[in-house]
Amino acid sequence: MQYKNKVFLVYGLAKSGIAAAKLLLSLKASVILHDRDEGVYKKQEVIALLECGAQIYDGTQGFYAAVVSPGVPIDDDFLVNVKRGGGKIIGELELGSLLLSAPIIAVTGTNGKTTVTTMLTHVLKSCGESAFSLGNVGTPITEKATALKPTDFAVVEASSFQLETIKAFCPHIAVITNITQDHLDRHYSMENYVFLKGQILKNMTSSEFAVLNYDDKTVRAFAEKTNAKVIWFSFKDWALSEYQAFNGGSDGKCFDGAYFDGAYFDGQFLCFRGERVIEANALNVYGRHNIENALAVISACWAAGESLESIKQGLETFRGANHRLERVFECDNVTYYNDSKATNVGASITAVDCMDKNTVIILGGETKSQDFKPLFDKLKNSNVTLAIIVGSGKGELIKCAVDNDYFSFYVARDLSDAVRLAKSHLSGGGGNVLLSPACSSLDQYKNYEERGQAFIDAVKALYEA
Ligand code: ADP
Repeated sequence: MQYKNKVFLVYGLAKSGIAAAKLLLSLKASVILHDRDEGVYKKQEVIALLECGAQIYDGTQGFYAAVVSPGVPIDDDFLVNVKRGGGKIIGELELGSLLLSAPIIAVTGTNGKTTVTTMLTHVLKSCGESAFSLGNVGTPITEKATALKPTDFAVVEASSFQLETIKAFCPHIAVITNITQDHLDRHYSMENYVFLKGQILKNMTSSEFAVLNYDDKTVRAFAEKTNAKVIWFSFKDWALSEYQAFNGGSDGKCFDGAYFDGAYFDGQFLCFRGERVIEANALNVYGRHNIENALAVISACWAAGESLESIKQGLETFRGANHRLERVFECDNVTYYNDSKATNVGASITAVDCMDKNTVIILGGETKSQDFKPLFDKLKNSNVTLAIIVGSGKGELIKCAVDNDYFSFYVARDLSDAVRLAKSHLSGGGGNVLLSPACSSLDQYKNYEERGQAFIDAVKALYEA
């Protein structure tokens, strides 16, 4: 695409929009800035864009295309009008990928994207590659698009918000971790959410690799629709017969050796096509979900051409991401886990499954049209003995708890109150306090990091008092 002298309107001036505008200016395009929040024009980064020649949209300027940040939903009124007028819409992810010469390894799914993206980048680096984590994980793809070389790897975390606008986006390797309910407030139905996740595969051909979760029926079904070569990962040690029966024996997707075609867990070792790669105990992250994440990484790194021996060395030295089931404090036999990034039911269920002793869970925040029933069903059959509910969605959570015969809960004013209640509940026997809210943090905090830090501060304040 030609950029020089073309006019682009950048819509949504958070991190990705600002990076996209900067990139377009560096390509000598004319840039018009637009945001619903007039306050953004006072941001230092936006002022810098204006000083470099960008203009603020006044409703009259024409433009070639609107570049959209992931924060803007596709059915936003302004975008609908752009489309109605025959205008082009380009997502920030798409724009970055069009300009990127490095091969892309894209990671999507409901949970585990950031963990897999950072683990993959870490392992690739330890295999001697030059790899960069981009996208939803923090650095927008447009910030690095023209800086990376064909010999680098761009490991891109792609959310459903970004996949909403892709047209030509085509990764060399795509990983789909799992799919459970999330973001239905923006995507309306589960069908649409699943469709958007599948979009990551739509332009891939047989020279590309799709790394898919065999255990997740929704993800497994994508194998039927993609032209990419499928490499699986599975928490199970699938019997060959069962696996071949699913694959019809010889549809070309089944490895012609004697093993499951991909990475799997034999109960002790993470293996790839019959070879042991690493013992689960040698990983520095814990829980079943992290074994699954590591299996996805093994399959993706293998597709990227790495040897199993170097993949093993990389996995041994990876130490988790913050705010994800992070052990943050231990005192008087009580262990505190910050899982603030658990912003949906699936993630909190995963965390509950990792709790091996008497546990108090702190739940709540801004709800997102989710069904909390599976979470309360899980709590009834787990080591959780008390749920403490906080946040703006507490009414919805309480109703769902009661409707599902779950009555072991208290309601707290805020996180500090919740932590205090949790500590007193565990006084005597000890146990775990788990912040795993199953809700977004936006009712009270800027983001999940701020909520996680507030939890850590509240815990420390309690013991320092
Ligand atoms: P995402 O970027 O998709 O939100 P993260 O890696 O940030 O994923 O993790 C988000 C939450 O999901 C955390 O609470 C984490 O413990 C949990 N989680 C991580 N990996 C998985 C997985 N494979 N399956 C289920 N939950 C997971």
